[in-house]
Amino acid sequence: MPYTQLTIEDVLKNMKFQRDAKGEALIRSAYEMAEVAHRGQKRKAGEDYIQHPLHTALNLAKIGLGPRTISAGLLHDVPEDTQVTLEEVEKKFGKEVAAMVDGVTKLGRIKLRGTKEEMYLENLRKMFLAMAADIRVVLIKLADRLHNMETLEALPPEKRERIARETLDIFAPIANRLGIGEIKDRLEDLAFQHLDPEKFAYVSKISEEQQAQRKIHIRQIISELKKQLQKDGIRVEDIYGRSKHPYSLFQKLKRHDMDINKVYDLAGIRIIVAEVVNCYETLGVVHKMYRPLVGRIKDYISLPKPNGYQSIHTTIFGPKGKFLEIQIRTKKMDDEAEFGIAAHWIYAENRRSFRNFFRKKSVVPEQDLVWVKQLREWQTELGKDNQEFMEGLRIDFFKNHIFAFTPMGDIINLPEEATPIDFAYKVHSDIGDRAIGAKANGKMVPLDYRVQNGEVIEIITSREHKNPSRDWIRFVKTSAAKTHIRKFMKRDGMI
Ligand code: MN
Repeated sequence: MPYTQLTIEDVLKNMKFQRDAKGEALIRSAYEMAEVAHRGQKRKAGEDYIQHPLHTALNLAKIGLGPRTISAGLLHDVPEDTQVTLEEVEKKFGKEVAAMVDGVTKLGRIKLRGTKEEMYLENLRKMFLAMAADIRVVLIKLADRLHNMETLEALPPEKRERIARETLDIFAPIANRLGIGEIKDRLEDLAFQHLDPEKFAYVSKISEEQQAQRKIHIRQIISELKKQLQKDGIRVEDIYGRSKHPYSLFQKLKRHDMDINKVYDLAGIRIIVAEVVNCYETLGVVHKMYRPLVGRIKDYISLPKPNGYQSIHTTIFGPKGKFLEIQIRTKKMDDEAEFGIAAHWIYAENRRSFRNFFRKKSVVPEQDLVWVKQLREWQTELGKDNQEFMEGLRIDFFKNHIFAFTPMGDIINLPEEATPIDFAYKVHSDIGDRAIGAKANGKMVPLDYRVQNGEVIEIITSREHKNPSRDWIRFVKTSAAKTHIRKFMKRDGMI
């Protein structure tokens, strides 16, 4: 597969907002640093390494992110893979950019492999978000993953499969939770294509056939609708035909015994209007012209989907009895459906509050941030209290939680200020009872050490003795650890 060779101009050209001289200068100098640092390095397919950060930056520009996030995207592999250090990045580009680069580097070290069990995967997704701390770090990671998926061909088959699986299990659902439909769809299709090439080809083929059958009708309906809407004085910003992407069609087919005739939203038309009230007016016009299918009218404007998605959907009987789904939404809703969380920044920014948005929590009214509701729901699922988990863009909803790893990559969820002993008992009571030492990220630490988010904790155990110390009671944080230590002391007649 030939790769698109990008230049920094392609990135700048695709920026949606904030393309001013200052921002451009920042991006250009981030590019220079990355280009020099990666010079001589090649990607697996043989192209210059710098193409990877450039594509990552382009993906970020396309979903509307600003100069600092794009710069961090350009620099995201610099500290890990080159001689240039994070300190140098910070010196040149400041704390904010450096913190994002650091966040991406740290996320890259997490092993995201796991079982297929949904609960475990959900924990991995939560942990990933919690560790990122700044939503922009997650967006860079998604942009990075998207390019890695686009160039997956270059890797050996086993690696390809693992990465595609991880993409489907972790990254696509995160993109979905953040409402970034554009990235979610592409990640899913790329993963699907690699994991099941035959089914992918099959689904793509029937989709194309169905598309072709509907093409003329769609064109006809669009022109009829345009005329009528104009007559009724409803301003239409955009109207176009759309189709379901392969992976999503495949999911639908599975639910309907692989019977394509039962899939009603295979193809459709999207109408973008100016105001919310126009959405309902347009729905009236559509139903006046075409008979709607009973039970297929969905008002996600009044009742948004959990990820914040808003739109009106209705399925109509088109010519020759072919069903067509019509989606009606405003420009803002459309942007939010494509760019998700990033769109909120674009709109926040247009209200001249972008700068403050990162620093103060009250600048953008919380009800504006539908995705916040979603994060909050996750928090409730975890059974934590709801107060003040959101501060600006920080993902503080796991504020009192620490995620640490076993040397095997399993995630251990601990309360704040937990120690290696808490960790040990959480893994297994026997490991707690036999603990004699601990390492955090490979370095020896005392047993009352406070475990930090993301650390790999290794417990050194005694093979011969079970020997919990009564001193441990003073510093452990979890009740499980306390219970086990007390039980042991009682048995030994220590208390
Ligand atoms: Mn990368």
